[in-house]
Amino acid sequence: MQEFHLIVLGLLALCSNTEGAFRHFMLRKKTINIGVILPPNTVTEVAFASALARASMESQKYNFVMNIKYAPHGDSFAASKAACELLASGVIAIFGPTDSNSADAVEAHCRAAGIPHIQAVWRPPPLRGLDRPSPPSINLFPEAMELSRAVALYVKDNDWTSYTLLYDDDEGLIRLQEVLKHADPEHKWLVKRLKPGEDNRQLLKSLKATGQTRVILDCPSDRVLDYLRQAHEVKFFEDYMSYVLMSLDAHTLDLQELRYGLSNVTCLRIFDHSDSRTRSYLADWEARSTADVRIPKMTHEITVEAALASDAARLITDSVESAPEDFKIEPTPIECDSENQWEAGPDFTEHLLTNPIVGITGKLLLENTTGERTNFNVEIMELSNSGFNSIAKWNAELGFVYVRTANEDSDLLTEKWQNKTFRVVSRIGAPYLVERKPKEGEVFIGNDRYEGYSKDLIHEILKETLHLNYEIEIVPGNGYGSYNKDTKKWDGLIGHLLERKSDLAICDLTITYERRSAVDFTTPFMTLGISILYSKPTPPEPELFSFLKPFSVDVWIYMAAAYLMVSLMLHILARLAPNDWENPHPCDKSPEELENIWHIKNCCWLTVGSIMTQGSDILPKGYSTRWVCGMWWFFALIMCSSYTANLAAFLTNAAMDDSIKSAEDLAMQTKIKYGTVVGGSTSSFFKRSNVSTYQRMWAAMESARPSVFVKNNDEGVERVLKGKRSYAFLMESTAIEYQLERHCDLMQVGGLLDSKGYGIAMPFDSFYRTAVDNAVLKLAESGRLVELKNKWWQASEDDEACVEQEATEEGASAAELGVDNVGGVFVVLGIGCGMAAGMGALEFLWHVRDVAIEQKMTQAEAFWAELAFALSFWETEKPVQHSRPSSSASGDIASRASSVLRSAADLFNIDVFK
Ligand code: ASP
Repeated sequence: MQEFHLIVLGLLALCSNTEGAFRHFMLRKKTINIGVILPPNTVTEVAFASALARASMESQKYNFVMNIKYAPHGDSFAASKAACELLASGVIAIFGPTDSNSADAVEAHCRAAGIPHIQAVWRPPPLRGLDRPSPPSINLFPEAMELSRAVALYVKDNDWTSYTLLYDDDEGLIRLQEVLKHADPEHKWLVKRLKPGEDNRQLLKSLKATGQTRVILDCPSDRVLDYLRQAHEVKFFEDYMSYVLMSLDAHTLDLQELRYGLSNVTCLRIFDHSDSRTRSYLADWEARSTADVRIPKMTHEITVEAALASDAARLITDSVESAPEDFKIEPTPIECDSENQWEAGPDFTEHLLTNPIVGITGKLLLENTTGERTNFNVEIMELSNSGFNSIAKWNAELGFVYVRTANEDSDLLTEKWQNKTFRVVSRIGAPYLVERKPKEGEVFIGNDRYEGYSKDLIHEILKETLHLNYEIEIVPGNGYGSYNKDTKKWDGLIGHLLERKSDLAICDLTITYERRSAVDFTTPFMTLGISILYSKPTPPEPELFSFLKPFSVDVWIYMAAAYLMVSLMLHILARLAPNDWENPHPCDKSPEELENIWHIKNCCWLTVGSIMTQGSDILPKGYSTRWVCGMWWFFALIMCSSYTANLAAFLTNAAMDDSIKSAEDLAMQTKIKYGTVVGGSTSSFFKRSNVSTYQRMWAAMESARPSVFVKNNDEGVERVLKGKRSYAFLMESTAIEYQLERHCDLMQVGGLLDSKGYGIAMPFDSFYRTAVDNAVLKLAESGRLVELKNKWWQASEDDEACVEQEATEEGASAAELGVDNVGGVFVVLGIGCGMAAGMGALEFLWHVRDVAIEQKMTQAEAFWAELAFALSFWETEKPVQHSRPSSSASGDIASRASSVLRSAADLFNIDVFK
């Protein structure tokens, strides 16, 4: 109760500023003198004094008094003198000074006197921890290696693989060396020294020429502005440049003029400015520094020195408060040149080392043997329009924790981009981007000069989704972007981006590993693969005898030979086979002669009937002849089936040429040349492939003369069209799709050789990457990307004929065979019928001759008589004619012939016998 009373009294005294009451309150407590050595008129002094005042206020037993001596920065002599004066006045600890040389001098005096020494100075690692006398001096400044590790990890976390390290004093070099100790072996870095207060533009210009965009700058905070200004003058500090400032006080700088475009400045801070306690300290310091005209005006930001001074005061007062009863915390005056030591000194130092407190810079945990501070939190601060903002927190245990959400990120960036016109680079190539053809009287300017899928897509992303301005430009040379190993430079769109001439590159730009190592890509907006564009075969001229095609000429010859052989064999075997000798008159049980019907004519008839699948009404009866017949039928069955099957396939496939069905087929031949767009990802695919087929194809492409490479897809398509199947073009499937819609005589051969995507490229560390990426995803999910593709891929009205024509062609080829295809069969039928007619005529004439001889008539009479009878279609029966030996016989015949002739004459109404 009494304690509470005291605190309330003290606070009332402080608030009411009633000096009498305050003094009365303080006089009741034991005074503890704490020595401080600092340069004159610093905020650090204010911070220390403020912390002591607060502690005194809160303490019931002690009144902490700051005994300050001033020593200019770097003046170790003055600092040592001040230390001696403080020791002689009787202090329980000394804080300061804040430069390492002076701090060393003061530390020596304190150690000799057994007085704890607390400092807040950056120390290089080798000097720390090794051969430290005991008890050690306490250093609250974060341990050098850990601090450098935080920077190194940040750099790694942000995928920096190539960077420049700039420093301007030896300590800076040591810090950067520590950073580099954590760098990955494949990181590329360059270390350069800046000259403080001098013109460094030449050096910065030469660094700009190397294309470096990431810089770690180590210099005191008061020189940061000067260096960045110089860098800006030589364009080494502009859009897409990223700077990490090593100074822990960089966040206190007013960097209004540094907000150049889309550059990125990051620094570290070791305390949380938003913490309420920290803010109350800051308010206190501001009030004190305003009251004290000597002190420079506060910038609303806490310097690391001030924060550590405050924490040092807090550490001392807290340790005094919490010291065990047996500690005699009685300040003893000690002369510098005396042998005397403060008896309680070592124990008090020990207590300071083991008494963890939570200060402005977080929890103070000290290494007992070295007095170093290994535990600290780092805040990563990024420069934005509203000054430095915390983007992440880091500590040794948790690593990086990013504090901004994607939306906050995007809001910040949108704010940053408002006045910027995005430079979008592209290349001409349908359907992605083409120049609009103005109608009469029309003039297009700016982005209206172009149209295409890329234009629509970038408009959707930048204008519709992110509400940003943009202007489209065409890359000189119209190239996609390939790396030249000799010049070590990228050309095309990628080169343009790397030279920072544009912010985004959009077209059918394939995401490849090589390109990804030079620039950043968004999520793919289209997926595709390499395939082969080839011209369709021109349908072959229909051949009259195409029905012969299913079998080769050889097969036809062998078949004819087999037919003759089998017919002959059947004839011979039948003559040998007893069963084939038959009774010609079955009613005559004991015939005198047997008959064999298997003369060669019948044999040929049987075999031809079988192979024509018609069969025959006479069949052999002998074992051997039946066997040979069976074999012939088997042969006929297989041959007919094969012929039928092959004929169908042959007639329907006549229009399909399948000489090249895949990339393998292309690789296996040399007649058809094939190529790609020069300097594109397709050519890189073959160039770098480990697959033997593609390696062979690349070798063939490289050695081909004239060159098989073309400047762009249109040229490739043109070459395929004109090449009449002597050139195939390796092209991306999306482009093939587009061309097939428009050129009916082209076709895609085989499937996809790989799988990849098109992305929007941008320089590394582009702040808008996430926003643009999100916009692409949004458009993909809403189906807008598909709509855009349909819009630009589908053939226009003029081209639709192609699709219809294709449909008609397909239908026609599948369903119908024209006269041209089967004309040969008619011809054969015609010729066959002609031959049959000829044979019939010969047979008839032969018969007439026989009749003339038998009937003793003239041949003309016999001819006319037989012809007249043959043409008497109503006569269905013909009398048997017997030969007559005498004239009566001839008279009979004559009378019969004359009666036939008469009836024929009646029929034709001709006067034969007149
Ligand atoms: N789209 C490809 C590229 O980005 C061009 C090609 O090689 O077909 O390189």
